[in-house]
Parts: sequence; C-alpha cells; structure tokens
Amino acid sequence: MNILKFGGTSVGSVKSISALLDIVEQARKQENCIVVLSAMSGVTNLLLEAAEKAQVAEDYGQQLKTIEEKHFEVVRALLPASAQNPVFTRLKIYFNELEDILQAVFNLRELSAQTKDLILSYGEKCSVFMVSHIAKQRFEDVLAVDGAELIKTDSNFGQAKVNTALTELLINDFYQDKQEQLLFVTGFISSNPEGRTTTLGRGGSDFTAAIWGSALNAAEIQIWTDVNGMLTADPRMVEKAFSLPELSYTEAMELSYFGAKVIYPPTMIPAFLKKIPIVIKNTFDTGFSGTYIRHNVSACELPIKGISSIDDISILNLSGSGMVGKAGFSGRLFSLLSREQINVVLITQSSSEHSITFAVNPADAIKALNLISKEFELELQAKKLEYPEVENGLSVLAIVGENMKRTPGMSARLFNALGRNGVNVRAIAQGSSEYNISVILSKADLSKAVNAVHDSFYSSLKKTLNIFCLGTGNIGKTLFRQLQNQMPYLAKNNDLQVKVMGISNSRKMYLSKEGVNLCSWEQMMEQEAKPADLKLFVQEMKAMNLPNCVFVDNTASANPVNFYREILESSISVVTCNKIGNSADYEQYVSFKKAARKYGVDFYYETNVGAGLPIIRTLKDLMMSGDKVSSIEAILSGTISYIFNNFKGEAPFHEIVKKAQDLGFTEPDPRDDLNGKDFMRKMLILARDAGYPMEETEVEIESMLPQACLNASSVAEFYQELEKNKDYFEGLKKEATAANRALRYIGKLEEGKVKISLQMVEESHPFFTLSGSDNIISFCTDRYKERPLVIKGPGAGAEVTAAGVFADIINVGKK
Ligand code: ADP
Ligand code: ASP
Ligand code: MG
Repeated sequence: MNILKFGGTSVGSVKSISALLDIVEQARKQENCIVVLSAMSGVTNLLLEAAEKAQVAEDYGQQLKTIEEKHFEVVRALLPASAQNPVFTRLKIYFNELEDILQAVFNLRELSAQTKDLILSYGEKCSVFMVSHIAKQRFEDVLAVDGAELIKTDSNFGQAKVNTALTELLINDFYQDKQEQLLFVTGFISSNPEGRTTTLGRGGSDFTAAIWGSALNAAEIQIWTDVNGMLTADPRMVEKAFSLPELSYTEAMELSYFGAKVIYPPTMIPAFLKKIPIVIKNTFDTGFSGTYIRHNVSACELPIKGISSIDDISILNLSGSGMVGKAGFSGRLFSLLSREQINVVLITQSSSEHSITFAVNPADAIKALNLISKEFELELQAKKLEYPEVENGLSVLAIVGENMKRTPGMSARLFNALGRNGVNVRAIAQGSSEYNISVILSKADLSKAVNAVHDSFYSSLKKTLNIFCLGTGNIGKTLFRQLQNQMPYLAKNNDLQVKVMGISNSRKMYLSKEGVNLCSWEQMMEQEAKPADLKLFVQEMKAMNLPNCVFVDNTASANPVNFYREILESSISVVTCNKIGNSADYEQYVSFKKAARKYGVDFYYETNVGAGLPIIRTLKDLMMSGDKVSSIEAILSGTISYIFNNFKGEAPFHEIVKKAQDLGFTEPDPRDDLNGKDFMRKMLILARDAGYPMEETEVEIESMLPQACLNASSVAEFYQELEKNKDYFEGLKKEATAANRALRYIGKLEEGKVKISLQMVEESHPFFTLSGSDNIISFCTDRYKERPLVIKGPGAGAEVTAAGVFADIINVGKK
C-alpha cells in the first residue's frame, strides 16, 4: 500500500484536481493507496487572514468569499449539474460554521491558538470533502476521512505533538475494514485528548502522510507537489537549481529544516524509523521519476546536496564575563526558551564561552528578549551579562550534504563565494554531524548569496557572470558581437555564461533583470532605454545585488572613473579599457587596487596598454614572481607605427598622416595620437605597474611634431602646418635612411624615469623591423637581462581591444 499526499497546488485548480485523479487512477493499478490532501492552495493563508481580521474587528468577508468561490468553481467544473447540489449544500454548511466561529472571534476580539486551529482545519475539511465527491465520479467506494479524529496529539495548538502509539492504534483500527475503499484523508489536522482540533504546524499535511504510512507500514510515501522533487535550491530563487534523484533522511531533514519548504521536516521521522521511502513527485510532470528519500543512498559525486535558506530571522546575542566557565548557563537559557515554546533555529557559541548567539523567528524575538531579561535579572544588574540586543532583517543560508563530512575545503568554498560577492557573514554554525554549515547574513544579500554559493558548488553547471557595460562605441559593439558568437563555446568549454544585465552609453541606459538579448540590444536601447544617468546606473546595478558581477567600462571618458572605487567597494569587479582611471593621479591608481584587494574582487585593465596584447598580465606575473623590472622600451602607438612604417617612399609626411586618418587609424584630430599624450598614459601605467610611483608630470615627452603643428587652431590648419614643415620630416627620413636606420617614436622607462622621444634605431634593434601598426614592448628584468622579453603584435583596433576586454571578463569568471 502507498500513501499519496497531494499538496495545496495539486488541489488548487480544476486542472490540477483532474491531474490528481489521473495519478490516483494509475497508482491504484499497481498498489492500493490512501490519498492525503491539503487545503486548496492559498486557503490556509486566507483562513488565517480572516481570523486575524476578525480578531481586530475588521471585515473578513472578502477572504471568506474568495475561499467559497475557489471551491464552488471546482464543483461547477468537475461535477455534473445533477451531482452538484449535495456538495454545495455540505460546503455551505462548512462555510456557515466557519462564519459563526469568525463572528465569535470578531465579537470577542479574541483569537486563541485553539480557535485558530479550528478555523484552519476547515481548509482541509472542505478540500477532502469536495475532492472525494469528485472522485466518486470515477472510483467506486470512495470514503472521505476526517483525519483529525485519528491523529491524537497534545494540546500544543498550532504545532501539536503527536501521540504516536495511540495514533497508530487508531489508524490501524480504523483501516482494518476499509482496505478495499479509496480513502481521502485530511492532512494537517489532528485532535487533542479532549477531542479539540489541533494542527501539526504549517506544511503539516506531509507529516500526516508519513504518520499514516508509518502506522500502516506503507511501501512508499509519495509527496505530490508542484516542482520536480527536491531541488539543489529553492527554484524560485535559483534559476539553475536542479532536481536531486536521492537524499538520505538526514539530508532531507536538514534541507527542509533550513527552508526547503517542499517537505515538512518532521515528515522524515516516522518514515526513517520504519525505513519507508519518501518520494517527492510532480503532479504537473508525471514523467519526472521523483526525489527518493531513503536509507542507503548511493554514493554521489556532488560536494553538497543542496542549499536552503530561511529568509527572515532575528538574532540575539548574549555576552559577558558571567558566562565564562559557568556550567549550566546555556542549559538555563535554552530550557527557558524551550519552556516558552520559542523555537531556536541556530546557535553559535564563541570558544571563549564569552558569548552566545542564537537565531529565532522574528515574531519570537521580543518575547525571548523579555524572558532573558527576567531570568537573568541578577546577572544583568551585576553587569556579569551585557543587555542582549535583537538584530532583525537577517536570513540563514545552509549548505547540506553527507559528502561534506569526507571532503575538506567545503567551508572554504562557501566563504570564498560569499566573500567575493561582498556578503557579510554575521554568524556561523556547523552541526557536529558535518552535514550542514549554516551562516547568518543580511536579508538583502540572500538571493545573491544563494546564487553565488550554488554557482561555486555545482561547477558542472555554467557559472554566470553578470556584466554591466558602459559604452556602445566601436569597442562596446564589437564586444557584444564577440560575446554573442562565443557564448556556445564558453558554455561548452568553460562552464561559463556571460549575461549582460545592463548597458549604458552617454545618451541612454537599459537594465534588465532577465538580461539583455544580444541579438537585439540596439533595438532595446532604441525602444526601451531611459535617459542615461551614470549615478543611477551604478545605483541600480548595486541594487540588483547579483552574484559574480562585473562592471565593464568601454568608454574613454573621465566620468565613469569616478565610480570605480564605489563599485569595487560593493564587491563588483571592474574591467576597463579606459586609460583615464589608471593614468590620472597616482593616489587614485593605488586606491583602485586597494579597494579590489580589500573587497576580494578584480580590477582588470589589460587593454589599457597594447589593446589585447598580454602586456599588463605579463608584467604582473613578472612582478608577482619576484622579478625586478630594470627597463622597459616600447612603441605603443599603433597610429605612429603606421605612419613611420609608411613614411618611406616618395609620399610626403602630411600625406601619410592624411592616409592614416582616412583609413580610420587616427583620432578625428590626428594630433591626439601624434602629441604623444596617449602614449604617455600607457607608459605611466606600465611604470606604475612596474613599481614606480610616478605622476604624469614626471614623464618627459619629446614631441615628434614641430610646435607650430601642435598650435594649429584646426585640423585643416594642422595639415597646412604639417605641409609647411615637409622638409623637416624629409630631413629626418633622409638622415635615417642614410644611416640604415628606422624612425621610431619610443617610450622608455629607465632608472625610474620615463621619456618618450623620436629615435632612429639601428637594424639590430628589435624595433627596427616593426611593421604595420604593430606595438612592441621589451622588458629588461633581473631574469631577462641578456636578451629582453619582447611582446609584439597588433596593438590597436576595436576587434583586438574588445577581445582583450573579453579575456579580462573571462578571467574574472575563472576565480
Ligand atoms: P505543496 O503545496 O505541494 O505542499 P509547498 O508549497 O509546500 O507545496 O512546497 C513546494 C514549494 O517548495 C515549491 O513550489 C518550491 O517553490 C519550494 N521550495 C523551496 N525550496 C525547495 C527545494 N530545495 N526544492 C524544491 N522546492 C523547493
Ligand atoms: N494547508 C496547510 C498549510 O498550508 C498544510 C499543508 O499544506 O501541508 O500549511
Ligand atoms: Mg507543503
């Protein structure tokens, strides 16, 4: 015999009740079964609301009406007209009784726990009565059972404790002559020795199923719900949560205790004692084979089984010298709380025994505080104990799994994921069983934390990087195209998914919780974006509080730089191709690095120098491995390289510059490249990364242009000046050619000084053969003394720069 329990959503609608009856029909072909039902979904909450309204003399009519309508709709749809009347009549009797009770509460302004339980019991009574009547259309010998009479409990209304021996006896006795019948039993409700209605706690229908299963030695206890079994996390919070095929009773208990509401924790106890498997199945996806909770689960590769969370708890902290070495102190504290029915969710105690922190339901916090103040009055007066404080707005996150016991590094992985995402941990508890590590954190961080932890433990899943991009110029556009093309490869080979959650340019911005579709981002910006406001963009990015976040600056503007620090301090990594941040004052440059280190995030700017060439990374590796850079020599302007590489034949200098401009190799005003300022910025960043705390003013730039060219008031005039100086450039060319040398604009770091100047290099010099618009850089270090370490290649252009930004983003994801 099997017990089939259907939760609220499975009796929540016309469609689901039909599905439920199909499932019962199939199940009966194999085994006898007993059906346990919850109230229709939402009804228990509506009853509670009505009761609470009545208690404060507010109108509860709306709640009652909604409950009635929910039931009547099902009756109308699922019963033929001729069979409806008796059901309506009986339901009406129930609703009238309910109204009388509510009216009494209204009149007395008093709602005792006992009355509350009585009110709540109508949810299950009505659903069982109604569904069993509908079932009579399909099955013979259907019986509606008021389970309250058979489950005997104490008088702890709201969360009654079951008298197991008596209950088992009653159920067995009852069932004896009913084996051939199809029973529909009310979940959740029970009764005390006086026969008054009690309840088993919210979600308690699961427990009813286990009680019946245990009493009758069922083969299986099936919990039919609205999701595919127990998932690795609450699917409403973690999109990537996946179903678990199997769990031990302990694991299921720990997960549900810490918030996995799909099964009510006490359910596991009777099943465990009798070794009856529990299967969680999906009423709406009968193809799903279910999550099995049973003995002897097979070995599993997963480091943890799941992550669960309780989203609203309060903590109380007790500290003081009076606790140190005092045997029985915590005994006194916790028996006090237990006596007063305060459920303690979690406890941590410092090893010095100087303080105890415990978590309770927020509704109990003040009561706990008052109890403690009374119980420990003497200690408080004698200042042996500090006055306890309540802290609200907190959540618990727990990772659960028996494998944790055997695997080192589990807590490191947990705290690393939390730390990197800026989640502050208020308290930690690990059960001595090592099946569970729980942490208390701010409620605002919960969703981010659960997702980040999920990503870090289930590495076979794709880790998601949430990126926010500034700038939709050449580089931004190219990056989006590259991202889109590369997505399938990344998912397959890197277990990484990059989601663009926000885009802004100087005109418009668009942020989306679902992520921006890269096929149509331009359209989105056109149609749905709001006016750009960088401050707001950053604020909204922070407010989304997503895990694994990266802010990507693809602009060349000074404005975004002002936000870097704030962003890093919010535990969001920054990837930038914008040189302004690192080349402004040194103090600022250092502050970014410090903030990134302090908040455990990354600040990557590979494309600040040489676009996608691995220059910054190489320099960093050299420095980190203890090498010392003695000199750097570099050509870091693709534009100037192009110009000198083409300034060879007949064409005069100004024509070459014009050609470079026409080909799109220069800024709109070519002087922005030729004045050496951009080059200076790159050299400054390199020098700083090589360990020289240098300011812009210390870089010596020898202009390659005559002063008149620099002074020209317009681009046109600049070209005229260039032409006027034709002979100057011809002279340089002749001199170089005669000496078999090449003209190169070179930046040099030597003895802590940086200088940029036009030079004529010999054939043997590594820079002599540089072609096209390539960049080249050579590092002389303690290790690379005889022959320098040289990096050479295309150092400009949207394609390679975007690729460099892309690589930086991926590197954030690798951590
Ligand atoms: P029922 O009405 O069937 O008793 P519940 O609402 O009590 O259903 O429990 C099912 C819900 O539990 C799911 O819809 C899901 O949102 C939530 N839930 C929370 N954590 C988990 C988890 N780890 N696995 C599955 N479901 C979970
Ligand atoms: N109807 C009850 C509740 O909502 C019991 C249950 O659904 O399991 O808590
Ligand atoms: Mg439930």
